[in-house]
Amino acid sequence: MTAGDADKRHRLPAVDRVLGWPAVAALVDAHGRQPVLDAVRGELAGWRASGNPADDPSIVAGVEQRVVAAVTPSQVPVFNLTGTVLHTNLGRAPLPPEAIEAVVRVTTGASNVEFDLETGKRGDRDAHVESWLQRLTGAEAATVVNNNAAALMLMLNTLAQRRQVVVSRGELIEIGGAFRLPDIMARAGCKLHEVGTTNRTHLQDYAEAMESRPAMALKVHTSNYRIEGFTAAPAEHELAQLTREHGIPFAVDLGAGTLVDLTRYGLPHEPTPKEALAGGADLVTFSGDKLLGGPQAGIIAGRADLVARIRRNPMKRAMRCDRMTLAALEAVLRLYADPDSLCHRVPTLRLLTRPEDAIRQVAVRLQPVLAKWLADEPVRVDHVSVASQIGSGSLPVDRLPSHALRIQPAARRGGGGLLGRIAARLRRLPVPVIGRIADGALLLDVRCLEDEHAFHAQLEENQRP
Ligand SMILES: *Cc1c(COP(=O)(O)O)cnc(C)c1O
Repeated sequence: MTAGDADKRHRLPAVDRVLGWPAVAALVDAHGRQPVLDAVRGELAGWRASGNPADDPSIVAGVEQRVVAAVTPSQVPVFNLTGTVLHTNLGRAPLPPEAIEAVVRVTTGASNVEFDLETGKRGDRDAHVESWLQRLTGAEAATVVNNNAAALMLMLNTLAQRRQVVVSRGELIEIGGAFRLPDIMARAGCKLHEVGTTNRTHLQDYAEAMESRPAMALKVHTSNYRIEGFTAAPAEHELAQLTREHGIPFAVDLGAGTLVDLTRYGLPHEPTPKEALAGGADLVTFSGDKLLGGPQAGIIAGRADLVARIRRNPMKRAMRCDRMTLAALEAVLRLYADPDSLCHRVPTLRLLTRPEDAIRQVAVRLQPVLAKWLADEPVRVDHVSVASQIGSGSLPVDRLPSHALRIQPAARRGGGGLLGRIAARLRRLPVPVIGRIADGALLLDVRCLEDEHAFHAQLEENQRP
């Protein structure tokens, strides 16, 4: 039996006929012939495979759905109401308008990303951000790559290929996904020389490791957990002195890499690149899209001779940033020139320092709106105090007082499936809303909800019929 016979049996219309139907012809006008043709073929094939009889309106509805799915971008904005400000799966730092404008400015046409306008010769793409990084970290030189994992990999490969790198056992971290320090080290071609124990490592442990003539020492800021209690680690300046005596570089992977003293804004202290370099580190590495609040990038800053070697590594070419990233990073770094306005202008810092009372008021105002939207569900909607976290491994233990809309099942039993279904309903909104399920409730932490009106309007416009 051929497809044609099957179509006759189920009375499926021919592709050309479907394309001629007014509703489908309108889709062709709006989106072009090819996407609609693909949708019609897909839809008819679906009906054919199912063996079910098809009626014309169902075919049209199916085609419409397929066309909408095909023309809708895969990556869309979402409301991050998870309570994790720097959420890696949700893109980490939101960018300030200055950064967005800079990206548009330099990518609409050509730019001088790697072109020296003075000499008319090839330039260096780091030049656009290096002076800002020097100023903000006190480093002699700096270079930028795709992310901090790449920064670490490039630094290790440049300075310690086929040689030993001394690291404390308590700092052999896994950041998430496939990022484990021992693996990165192996892929960078380095031999890991572990010293100390999980909770305690002494200067003497590092001193003994020097006998095996390592290429460098690395300290990793254990940013996503904290070892507490009976612990010990030598001060960075002591390690710096030891490595200097042995003539090897000492590097610190800071992870979050905030460029300002966060205590100034009432946040817990997080070590800065400036402090690490002033404390004797030869190099530091940190992310661009964590506490710095910029685009995804990895920054290596420190001694000019070491940065120069890193730049000459052919692997640098495979890890370099594009002009969009460099433009956005430059724009964000420029905002740091005025620390007084930082908390308003860098969204990450603005969200982290948002006053608890302002967050609470958002929850209070939105509670009836959400309750109305969920009126047909067996749930109660109220608001509660919660603790947001910074995320992306920054300041793991410290929590920020925040407020959330809370959706709880009205009945005691069977609530899990209900909350999962409501979470899915929220994710299907035009701007998907992402919350978190905890303690038998679906929580929407509104710390990161700045466009309250858009959220409100979306619920009003998408009531269940
Ligand atoms: C986050 C982090 C990394 C990885 O940085 P990415 O920018 O995500 O590649 C490396 N080291 C530490 C200590 C981190 O916290």
